[in-house]
Amino acid sequence: MTDDFAADGLARNFVAGEWRGGDGGESIAVEDPASEERVLDAAIAGSESLDVAIGAAKDCVARGAISDMLPAERAALLRRIAAEIRTLAQKGSPLLARESGKRLEDAQGEFAEAAAYFEYYSGLADKIEGRSIPLGPGLADFTVLEPYGISAQIIPWNYPVSLAARSLAPALAAGNCAILKAPELDPAALLMLGHAIDRAGVPKGAVSILNGIGADLGARLVRSPDVDQIVFTGSVATGQAILHAAADIVTPALVELGGKSAAIAYADADADALVESVKWGIFNNAGQVCSAMSRLLVHRSRHAEIMERLVAMAGSLSVGDGLSNHDHTPQISAAQLDRVEAMVARARSDGQEVATGGARIDRPGHFMAPTILDNVDPASPIAQEEVFGPVLCVTPFDSEDEAIALANGTEFGLVAGLFTRDIGVALRTANRLRAGQVFVNKWFAGGIQTPFGGVGKSGFGREKGAEALLNYVRTKNIAVALD
Ligand code: NAD
Repeated sequence: MTDDFAADGLARNFVAGEWRGGDGGESIAVEDPASEERVLDAAIAGSESLDVAIGAAKDCVARGAISDMLPAERAALLRRIAAEIRTLAQKGSPLLARESGKRLEDAQGEFAEAAAYFEYYSGLADKIEGRSIPLGPGLADFTVLEPYGISAQIIPWNYPVSLAARSLAPALAAGNCAILKAPELDPAALLMLGHAIDRAGVPKGAVSILNGIGADLGARLVRSPDVDQIVFTGSVATGQAILHAAADIVTPALVELGGKSAAIAYADADADALVESVKWGIFNNAGQVCSAMSRLLVHRSRHAEIMERLVAMAGSLSVGDGLSNHDHTPQISAAQLDRVEAMVARARSDGQEVATGGARIDRPGHFMAPTILDNVDPASPIAQEEVFGPVLCVTPFDSEDEAIALANGTEFGLVAGLFTRDIGVALRTANRLRAGQVFVNKWFAGGIQTPFGGVGKSGFGREKGAEALLNYVRTKNIAVALD
């Protein structure tokens, strides 16, 4: 054991307040996807580490280590975690940029966002209130919002630090303990958050962060009968497996899954705002964003002009490593690049038009060219399935009804967007879009304060905002006979 999570180039697990080496098999070599060089090794937590984490969390739940704190004390604890995350950011952001491949500015943004989640939920920690229910003079009735106990949280690799904070902060605010499973591909910056947890004075054992293989450690964690609630963020297939596991032991589970989100550009769309939104919406983080703008539905009268501008924008992106803040960064792994490229190759062989990009870039690292497909058949696999890469499908439309039907025409429903100067069209369209969140005239409009979550195969439950707290409490009703 050591007090440093990455002594000797080995990222360790944060288990019950201690840094533990691996007991779950050979360490994972964490790679820089821009150079394919090794960044460090990450220890794999095995069943013993998991047992220690669960035992310590159970003990914390039993003695009310988090739940019995005065709400204002919990709020102060969350603020201290936020401050420690801001301190860690200087060391953590370059590490996150290297292991994930993302831009340094985005990695810094992740740490800042993670701190902001703790600050936001610290403000709500002492405002988790039940209600009183009038039942007549003979009874007093009220509800209490209780924490579940142990929250098991499975984190994906695309935004490991901010997504972990998105679930951990409200869980703690509501009085829960938590065990987080870090993603295999880029676990180190998330494991490092153990330092912030520790230095902020979180009771030992109330939070553990373990790194391990999803189908092994992750599956064991969610199947544990000691886990009281599951939060999963990741792919549809894994979400379905977790829901099956949760059903077997009747554990409540929240699932935040993938997307195939569409923007509608009406005839009066502001081209500058649209092009900027496409740049961020599909090319940032190499398209590895659950709420990416992976489809653009453009009014036929603007189709040629918009396509010309989009192809020029895609061609102007600087390509390179994230640490140097290039616009266009690599896919996280060779396997992800293979998958993205294969999906585009299949689209091409299905007859879809490649307007720009379409294949990997011939250089070291896992770089896929920024890709735009035009006149895409909305029923084709590339328009229906999540690519999770820098691939935009453009389809022209003629009427408002047609645009909305196309936008709603997949199994997903995470976010949607629209571009128009007409407020009536904007609100009418927003009401009819089947998605958890609608962006008007700016993709990714919103913040940590705005509820986020899916419809259909994008999952259910809401994270972010005040609504998220409801995932982390259960309602108890207490009725008192007064006679
Ligand atoms: P993934 O489903 O492969 O893995 C997610 C996590 O689940 C990882 O930590 C993995 O180790 C773990 N896991 C895998 N199998 C498991 C099992 N059987 N039991 C328990 N845990 C298991 O997803 P990914 O490739 O890491 O992430 C990409 C996906 O995540 C995309 O589909 C993306 O849209 C989605 N995502 C959704 C949101 C959202 O908020 N809706 C946010 C980010 C990413």
